[in-house]
Amino acid sequence: MYNKMKFYGDIKMKSIHYIPESELAAQHTIAETLSKEIEPRGLRFFVETFGCQMNVRDSETLKGWLYETGYSEASDKEQADLILFNTCCVRDHAEKRLMGNIGALKELKDAKPGMIIGICGCMMQQEGMAKKLLKRFPHVSLIFGTNVLYRFPEMLKAVMNGERIAVTDRAEDAIAEDLPKLRDNPRSAFVNIMYGCDNFCSYCIVPYVRGRERSRKAEDVCSEIVSLVNSGITEITLLGQNVNSYGNDGSTGMTFADLLRYVSDVPGLKRIRFMSSHPKDLTEDVMQAIASLPNVCHHVHLPVQSGNTEILKRMNRKYTREQYLSIIEKLRSLVPDIEFTTDIIVGFPGESEEAFRDTMSLVEQVGFAAAFTFAYSPRQGTAAAKMEDQVPESVKKRRLRELNELQAKKTVENNAKYIGHCGEVLVEGCDCRGDETMLYGKYQNFKMVYFPGKPELLNRYVNVIVTKTNKNSLLGEMIDA
Ligand code: SAM
Ligand code: SF4
Repeated sequence: MYNKMKFYGDIKMKSIHYIPESELAAQHTIAETLSKEIEPRGLRFFVETFGCQMNVRDSETLKGWLYETGYSEASDKEQADLILFNTCCVRDHAEKRLMGNIGALKELKDAKPGMIIGICGCMMQQEGMAKKLLKRFPHVSLIFGTNVLYRFPEMLKAVMNGERIAVTDRAEDAIAEDLPKLRDNPRSAFVNIMYGCDNFCSYCIVPYVRGRERSRKAEDVCSEIVSLVNSGITEITLLGQNVNSYGNDGSTGMTFADLLRYVSDVPGLKRIRFMSSHPKDLTEDVMQAIASLPNVCHHVHLPVQSGNTEILKRMNRKYTREQYLSIIEKLRSLVPDIEFTTDIIVGFPGESEEAFRDTMSLVEQVGFAAAFTFAYSPRQGTAAAKMEDQVPESVKKRRLRELNELQAKKTVENNAKYIGHCGEVLVEGCDCRGDETMLYGKYQNFKMVYFPGKPELLNRYVNVIVTKTNKNSLLGEMIDA
C-alpha cells in the first residue's frame, strides 16, 4: 500500500466535519433494500449534466448510487424510468434552458406515470428555487442540492413511497468520503481535492451554492488515486475551484505544492492535471513543483477574467494585470513548453472600452492556447449584480465577438509553433471518416492532435509528430505505437 506522508506541524489545523461512517452505512442499507425492488423490474436511469467538471464528478457519484440501488443506465431519456438533471447556475441562460428541458418532459411523464423526474446541483441551492420548481412542475418529485449527495438512497426511497421532496440544506459544509461512483472513462479521471470556495469574486455565485472551502485529507485523495491507477487509469485531474489554496485553512497540514509532490509518487500515474488555478494563490513553490515533477503536466488553466487592473479590483480578484503577466513569464522561464488556457469575462459592470482594450492586449500578449470567454451575466445575490454601471447587452455581445476573433487568431499562431513537434499522446477517441480512421488525443501540455491510426490504440500512449495544422487543430503522424 502506498503510504508516504509529510505533515507540517506549525500550520493551524481547522477541523472539518466528516459525515460519519455510520450515516453512510445506513444509506448503503437503504440502497440494498431498494435494489431488491428496482433490479428485478429492470428500471433504468438517465442523468444529464450541465456546467463544470465539479458537476461531472458529482454525476459520477449519483450514477454510482443509482447502480447500487439497482438501476442500470438508459441510452436516452425516452428509455428511462428515472431522469435526473444536474444543474449549473453560473450564468443566467442555464435557468431558462432547464425550464425548457423540464417542461418538455411532461408528455413523457404522462405516458409513463411511474417515471421519477429529479433536479439537483448548484441551481437547487439558490434561494427559493426548489420551491419555485416544485410549484411550477408537478411532474417533478425529487429536488436536492450539492451538499446532500450522500443521502441519495434515503431521498429516492421517499420518492418511491410517493412523496415529493426538496432537500437543499445550506449549512452543511461537510465532506463525505467513500461514496459510490461510476466512472466510464477508462483512462482519465477527475479527483476532487477540495469543495466550495471562499473567494467571493464579485460576479460569481459559486461560493453561495457550493459552501465554504474545505480540503480533503491528502491520504483520502491519494488512496482514491491509487485505486484509480490500479483500475488502469493513468491520467488524473485534481479538481477544486481554486486548487492553489488547497490546505490554506490548515485542515490538511499540506499546501497544494506538497500535495502535488505527494501524489506524483503514486506508482503508475503518468499524468497529473489540475484545475482551476487562481492567480492570487499560485506560489513559487507550485511553480517549482510543476517544473520539477515528471508527471505533472505542463499546462495551467489560469483564469484571468480581465486584463484591466481596475476591473480586476472590482471583481475582487486580488491580483493586478502586471502580477498575472509576471506569473506567466516566470512559469514560461521555468517550463518552456508550458501552455496556458484561461477564462475571460467581458462586459463586467464599469468595463469601459479602454478597459476592454486592456483585456484584448493581454490576450494578444500572452498567447493562450485556448480561452473560455463569457459575457458578464448578473447573478442575484452577488456584489456585481448590484453595481450601477451595468454594460448594455449589445456592447457585451460585440466585445465577446471581437475577443473570440482575436483568440481564434492566437490559436492559429499557437498551433503553427507545433509543426515538427514530437511527443507522447494519450489516445482519447477516434473519428471515422469514410475509409480513414483519425485518432485524437492530447500531448501532456493539453494540445490536441489528430492523426491516422487504428481504434485498438484507444486509451494507449503513442508518439506523434505534428505535420500540419488547420484552423483549430494539429494534424500529425504516429511514429510508433
Ligand atoms: N473557480 C474557477 C476560477 O476562479 O477560475 C471558476 C469557476 S466558474 C464555474 C468558471 C468561469 O465562469 C469563471 O472563471 C468565469 O470566467 C465564469 N463566470 C463566473 N461567473 C460568471 C458570471 N456571473 N458571468 C459570466 N461569467 C461568469
Ligand atoms: Fe467563483 Fe472566484 Fe470562487 Fe472561481 S474563485 S468559484 S470565480 S468565486
